[in-house]
This record gives sequence, C-alpha cells and structure tokens, in this order.
Amino acid sequence: MEKFNGKSIYNPSGKAGEYSYWACNFYTGCSNCCTYCYLKKGVLGHVMGGEVPTLKKCFKDEEDALRIFQNEIFLNLIELRKHGLFFTFTSDPFLPETIDLTIKAIDICIQNSIPVKVLTKRADFYEKFFKRLLSGSPIKETILYEQNKSYVAFGFSLTGHDELEPGASTNTERIKAMKILHEGGFKTFASIEPVIDFSISYEIMKETRGFCDLYKVGLESGKQYKRLDVKYFVKMLTENIEYPIYFKDSLLKQACISREELPANCVNRDYNLFEK
Ligand code: SF4
Repeated sequence: MEKFNGKSIYNPSGKAGEYSYWACNFYTGCSNCCTYCYLKKGVLGHVMGGEVPTLKKCFKDEEDALRIFQNEIFLNLIELRKHGLFFTFTSDPFLPETIDLTIKAIDICIQNSIPVKVLTKRADFYEKFFKRLLSGSPIKETILYEQNKSYVAFGFSLTGHDELEPGASTNTERIKAMKILHEGGFKTFASIEPVIDFSISYEIMKETRGFCDLYKVGLESGKQYKRLDVKYFVKMLTENIEYPIYFKDSLLKQACISREELPANCVNRDYNLFEK
C-alpha cells in the first residue's frame, strides 16, 4: 500500500506505525510535560517538543485544519473505515487547547463510519466530550451516545509515575476514567509505555484487568534494558494478564523473543478492538 502523507492525516511508520495504520496530528507540543517525551528527542526536538500546544504551521487556523481534514478523510475513506484513525502522536488530543478541534474531527469520523482511537493522559475531558451528546432531545442524545460507543475507543497512557508527567492528570485519575468509560460501554485500551519500572507496570495492568480491552506495551525509546528483566516481564504479563496484549517490536527485540513464541492472548499489530 502506498503511504499517504497529508497535512492532517497520514500513515505513520516505525514505532508509531505499530500503533495505527492511520493517524491524525493537528498540533505539536504538549503541556503534559512528560520528562521522557519522545517529541523532545532528536533533531526536531526544538520544533516538536514545546510545552505549549500549537496548531501545525501548515494550517491557517482551526477552521482550515478541519476543512483539510475533511478532504483528506474523503480521499481515504475505505482504508480509514477498515483500519480506524488514531489521535494523536504530536500532542495530547484532550488538552484544553486541543480538545475542541479533536471533538469536531471525531464527529466527522463518526458521521463517516470511521472508528477512532484516542490516546490521552488526561482524565478531565468528560464534560466537554459528552456535553455535545447531551444537548438535544432524549432520543437524539441516546442515538448519539450509542454511535459514539460504536466508534470511539479511549486509550490512556499509564506509566505509574506522576512525577515524570507533571502537567497530566494523575495515573489514578486516568485509571478511574478508564473504568467509568468501560462501564459506560466504551472500548478502552492502555498504553503501558514507556515502561519505567517493570513491577509498577505489571501492577497497573493487574489493577485495570476487567475494564481494559487491550494493552500496548513498550519500552522507553533509545534506552537499553537488561535482557533477562525484559524477558521475565513478558513472562509475568503473559502468564497473569488474560486480556489481549500487544508487545512492541523493540521490546521483543530487547528480550530476544519472537512474536511467534508468544501465547494466544498476545495479539498482532492489526488487532481490531472494535470487532471484539
Ligand atoms: S503526553 Fe505524550 S506528547 Fe505529551 S508530553 Fe507526554 S509523551 Fe509528550
């Protein structure tokens, strides 16, 4: 498949590509201020890794971004319906500065039957997110809520280290939000990445069992871990977490484990949580 590289949506490659075939980035920079942020690393760190979310320079304003998004969606409708769209790799989609545009884009996706996966470190987005569903007649509200349940999956990054994520909601608040959304009928997933401390990541996964539909587990990019520690971590998870787990390629590489050796609850990159 030829890669699409639009202004708003694109086919990510490398580690990001393991998360989704399609992603949408409207902003760069993020006020969650994680100390390990991958955006701050590398040659583009000074452009991408700011602490104030800023609309990408290729858009004149939010309205222009949404217009371009709509056009790019239509160009790739069949593929997007099949694979879904991920928000977002270059900021947090539910920051006070980014949430309005994210919600408008999600609504366009739902109207076009495109499943959406949103990954956040925020737990304070409910009011804004659900307000738009609860402003019509009770029948209209119910229909919109059901549509959202079918098309939106909420993901939370969970490291267990609030001190490294000073601008984000706490890990406890994120876990609570995940539980509430799952109980409300939404699909949920957890990004256990980067693993800072193996035992804390394991505890978080144990704590969220039953209200997390998929775990994505990855190490800190560029960091070398002890092979035996990673291997033991994989063993602990596969033996004790009976829910779908996706291990990132780089983690398996550091553990010297091939994907084929993993047990049945370990899923591949193209696992579709909307079909489960
Ligand atoms: S939430 Fe993601 S994008 Fe934002 S600072 Fe943390 S790692 Fe970077």
